[in-house]
Amino acid sequence: MSVSHCLTGDKVAIDAFLDQFDVFLFDCDGVLWSGNHIFPDVPETLDMLRNRGKRLVFVTNNSTKSRQDYKAKFDKAGIQANVEEIFGSSYSAAIYIARILDLPADKKKVYILGESGIEQELASEGIKYCGGTDPNMRRDIEQEDFDALADGSALDPEVGVVLAGLDFHVNYLKLAYGLAYLQRGAVYLATNTDSTLPMSKSFFLGAGGVGAPLVTSFGKEPLSLGKPSQAMLDAVEAKVKMDRSRTCMIGDRLNTDIRFGIDGKLGGTLAVLTGVSKKEEFLADGAETVPAAYVEKLSDLLG
Ligand code: PLP
Ligand code: CA
Repeated sequence: MSVSHCLTGDKVAIDAFLDQFDVFLFDCDGVLWSGNHIFPDVPETLDMLRNRGKRLVFVTNNSTKSRQDYKAKFDKAGIQANVEEIFGSSYSAAIYIARILDLPADKKKVYILGESGIEQELASEGIKYCGGTDPNMRRDIEQEDFDALADGSALDPEVGVVLAGLDFHVNYLKLAYGLAYLQRGAVYLATNTDSTLPMSKSFFLGAGGVGAPLVTSFGKEPLSLGKPSQAMLDAVEAKVKMDRSRTCMIGDRLNTDIRFGIDGKLGGTLAVLTGVSKKEEFLADGAETVPAAYVEKLSDLLG
């Protein structure tokens, strides 16, 4: 049974832990910030790691923003990062669709349940899409829609994939289109399936929560391309040279971040307790997903 070690307050243990790695993969929300609130001393902690010669990579399940949007968020937060160091679940999905999925030539379009981050990342890989932020989809369903969906005349024949992410404008019409494409054989993908979207004092519906009606009605789960999917790690490795045994995943959520690092056979995983998961969950006897170490907050690494 593996045991997680607390690094907070133990300078010797922190140094020994950091020395094991050349690359750190960072989850973003819950580690660097919570929503728009950046945690204290985060830029200083990241600078300390860079000054020690570490390579930093940022890996987020947030599908609503593109890598460019994230770069703007980093700039605003005063965190130094370039676009090549940022990976999101929309990007991971776009890479998977463009480079791994072998779609027939006449079925290459993607129906999106989600926001502009997905559209931008699909466009960056040259993938055609529909749905998404289309204003015509932000309305009540009418009888004509039921009829045209049932006989297929409302559907784009080129759609071969349904990609579900977090959609803040989800409604019956959008879900009905998604279900209709799935019934006609479209490949069912999700950017991520986070059950919740944590905010400082409460939590809201995540991509998994918003996409749940499709899962229930279609009766099958999508293939998810965000953490803990190894497709995300493949997307990172395609751009960042790394030795997995000298790479550490830092995150706040056991079933996405820490699972991602363990499944990827990374050299280490570090849980940060400023987000979703509580230490009781991984310190409990028989816990399934146990990080190698944990800190109360990221800046504890400053010692
Ligand atoms: N999905 C959405 C839409 C989000 O806004 C967030 C956090 O902001 C997440 C997922 C989780 O992101 P991360 O993987 O960085 O914790
Ligand atoms: Ca997180």
